[in-house]
Amino acid sequence: MTDNLTLGWEEWLGLPSLSLPAIKAKIDTGARTSALHAVAIEPFGPAEKPQVRFLMRPDPNDPGLEVTCSSPVVDRRNVTSSNGETELRYVIRTEFEIDGKKWPIDISLTNRETMSYRMLLGRSAITEDMIVDPNQSFIQPVLSYEAYKDVPRRKPVKRPLRIALLTQEPKNYSSSRLIEAAEKRGHIIEPINTSRCYMRMGTLDSEVHYDGRVLPRYDAVIPRIGARITSYGMAVLRQFSNTGAYCLNSADAIGASRDKLLAHQMLARVKVGMPITAFASSPQDSKELVKLVGTKGVVVKLLESTQGRGVVLAETQKAAESLVDAFRQLNASFLVQEFVKEAAGADTRCFVIGNKVVGAMKRQAAEGEFRSNLHRGGSATKVTLSKAERDTARKAAKTLGLSVAGVDILQTEDGPKVLEVNSSPGLEGIEGATGKDISSLIIEHLESKVRPLSRHRERTTRKTSTRKSTTQNASS
Ligand code: ADP
Ligand code: MG
Repeated sequence: MTDNLTLGWEEWLGLPSLSLPAIKAKIDTGARTSALHAVAIEPFGPAEKPQVRFLMRPDPNDPGLEVTCSSPVVDRRNVTSSNGETELRYVIRTEFEIDGKKWPIDISLTNRETMSYRMLLGRSAITEDMIVDPNQSFIQPVLSYEAYKDVPRRKPVKRPLRIALLTQEPKNYSSSRLIEAAEKRGHIIEPINTSRCYMRMGTLDSEVHYDGRVLPRYDAVIPRIGARITSYGMAVLRQFSNTGAYCLNSADAIGASRDKLLAHQMLARVKVGMPITAFASSPQDSKELVKLVGTKGVVVKLLESTQGRGVVLAETQKAAESLVDAFRQLNASFLVQEFVKEAAGADTRCFVIGNKVVGAMKRQAAEGEFRSNLHRGGSATKVTLSKAERDTARKAAKTLGLSVAGVDILQTEDGPKVLEVNSSPGLEGIEGATGKDISSLIIEHLESKVRPLSRHRERTTRKTSTRKSTTQNASS
């Protein structure tokens, strides 16, 4: 049994084919797939023999040290990391070296800038001749970053992001402001007309075509998908996500928020307050359906409504029933909702970015109107939220999986109630009412997701090298 290789929970190893002679890796049998820190990942080569090029910074304390690596791609795989986020990653096949011996390994590429270890050796790389002793570390020869002393150092640069703004309206206020904010922060941003994108799908690569050319790989995509093209827009967005771009809001989250029935069901599950809502598909139940939501007036909403266009108030039971019958005649999909009279034609739009409410406005409906939509003549003023409203807005966005959302809340006698969650909230009203530069906040949020700036410094000295550290372990 002298041939066995015993590994501690942290070890030095090399990836010679990638010109990476020394990497400090965490050995984690709790993870299946191995992972390597990689930034600026660029696929290249023919579709039948795809390759990938990337930058690797082996030493967490030396950001100027960057090694350019390239390798054949053997797979693209959804990998869920320990923080619960699932990401579609390139998987490369190479060899790792410890103490002069080499083993084959498949490694997924991901940005580990904020992790303590640049590499994670998962259990699929552990062969039968290896034993992992999680109570020890550095059993194998200790290497050093000196191995990179001849690699010329670069000044760490803030790499500009290449961003696609998916929109049908590149000139409207929201688009113009996002373009302005991205450019002001040094990024390259291009408006892309969603409906003019076409796609080619492969198992190892995905392409988005536009105007007779393949679009470049974007670091990030900001979707502003109009309600009329939700379904195709989601397909385009998924395709961008398959190319490795970070999508500010995912196609699934946008789909959930656009499907009012689904959104209501998801929110009900986590006990987010909502006006009592009912829906049915059979025409027999009009009367019953109206009764279910109360007698103080009923709001009937077309499921595809935006900007208040398909929202009608029936003040009596009889009117509500006729309305429901009429909508049915037209084969329309709709829901019925209790009318929250005490809201008095006002609602609150909470603008959420990355689990934070960054601004809020109260929208007051025009005289004689109950719909407060700005498109229906409503007026907006800045408002300070109560804790309950803030919590409700954050929870609603989070539940639907939206990192940018406009959550509309009605003030009721029983606390805040969510009306709807918008996945492409307009910027004009909220920036006007709050005086805040929401556009820049969105771009900043994008940067934090695509280009983590916080560097996790690796601890270089350890008192006892054999003790398993729980804090280090938790951070992989
Ligand atoms: P849309 O998606 O078309 O904007 P909403 O559900 O947001 O549809 O409704 C539009 C407006 O109508 C809301 O902003 C609100 O002012 C008013 N409204 C909607 N539902 C209710 C309700 N149940 N009770 C009182 N007012 C409502
Ligand atoms: Mg609305």
